[in-house]
Amino acid sequence: MTSKNISELAKFYKKKRTERIDALEKAGFVGTEEKDLLANHLALSEDVADSMIENQVATYQLPYGLALNFLIDDQDYVVPMAMEEPSVIAAASSAAKLFAQHGGFQTAVTERMMIGQAILTNVPDPEKAIAIIDDYEIDIIQKANQAHPSIVKRGGGADSIRIREIQADPEYNTPHFLIVHLHVETLEAMGANMINTMMEAILPYLEELSGGTALMGILSNYATECLATASCRVPADALAKGELSGEEVRDLIVLASQLATVDPYRAVTHNKGIMNGVDAVVLASGNDWRAMEAGVHAYASRSGQYRALSSWKTADNGDLIGELTLPMPVGTVGGSISFHPGAKMTHHLLDYPNAEQLESIIVSVGLAQNFSAIRALVTEGIQKGHMGLHARSLAISAGATADDIELVAAELKNHKHMNLAQAKEILDHIKQNR
Ligand code: NDP
Repeated sequence: MTSKNISELAKFYKKKRTERIDALEKAGFVGTEEKDLLANHLALSEDVADSMIENQVATYQLPYGLALNFLIDDQDYVVPMAMEEPSVIAAASSAAKLFAQHGGFQTAVTERMMIGQAILTNVPDPEKAIAIIDDYEIDIIQKANQAHPSIVKRGGGADSIRIREIQADPEYNTPHFLIVHLHVETLEAMGANMINTMMEAILPYLEELSGGTALMGILSNYATECLATASCRVPADALAKGELSGEEVRDLIVLASQLATVDPYRAVTHNKGIMNGVDAVVLASGNDWRAMEAGVHAYASRSGQYRALSSWKTADNGDLIGELTLPMPVGTVGGSISFHPGAKMTHHLLDYPNAEQLESIIVSVGLAQNFSAIRALVTEGIQKGHMGLHARSLAISAGATADDIELVAAELKNHKHMNLAQAKEILDHIKQNR
């Protein structure tokens, strides 16, 4: 990474927008050209916008902000996020700051193997077809690579096949399907187009080998062979909040994580918090956030039940440790990445990460976001339980004595706004009705 003076970004949130852009320049993140682009809100030109989609009539803007303080695999990052929801960037930055003080995020990524599916129906003898397709694996791979030779020249391409069979199911009135997965190393690309080309190219051959009928050949967005994991840890002491000790907060976070593991209703919201961070970076980096969303939620259901994607546990030494694994079908080339001004800016601000590094950044932001959400829930939410104390002190301040203190406090807790005026009103009411 080229050298950056991160200290120039101190109190970033307190600055005006123009001052933030100046600070980015002083810190070495942007030059004159990028400053102009930021000043112009990363505007899409007429021509570019019109060529991106059909029937285009305008551009739809979203705020573009920076999550700060991210230390990921010993590298400092400011992470661009495009989104409409308030508090998300503040939450990510605050969690990142805490974890940066304790080693930051460590990540691991699997090889970047994307999956294409060829679907065959009406296969007369599935067992025989499976044996033949298996025998001709090398030929199938060769045909796929011939359909997109440039990825092979770059060092990637189709690598292997996997054959799956789904039996006819009378309950759903569905027939037998024979499915051939093609695993493709897509290098820096997400690879949808290259895989779709390859899959369509091998369909006739698979029909020939199986005697069946090809239904479709297409990328699967369930990217189980392209996973990214982030982990982090923080001493319990660093988690103390309000009246709660660090150990208490840690234990509540662990409990919340356990809940989201077993309750799908909670898991969906837990995972939505993760995706607050993930989607905003995926979008800002010009990647396909629908592909990401679809894959992630299928991955959350891989055990047969929808569960939390992350886990928070207590380490042997009492630290809180968090881990998040996500399918991560993102790229640093392809789609609109090379020409969309916002996507280009994001790759610039991240110092041109390769696809694996981009995966690491995105999964770390997801974990940071998840931590902030759970911590807020179990602390501020719990503190609401502590409002009983506050209600009693308000009752006393309002002039309640003896048994009236509990009566006023109990009534006060039923009110949305717990304040002195309300406490006085309740006390007056109690006295008048005596
Ligand atoms: P593109 O086809 O736009 O770009 C990928 C191409 O970039 C490669 O085929 C390769 O072509 C070139 N390239 C240049 N450098 C590299 C490198 N280092 N590594 C790999 N490729 C390189 O995009 P994708 O195939 O990645 O598809 C992504 C797009 O497809 C997104 O916009 C997505 O929205 C869309 N899409 C998504 C679908 C889905 O189901 N999720 C379905 C259909 C489309 P070459 O070697 O020939 O130069």
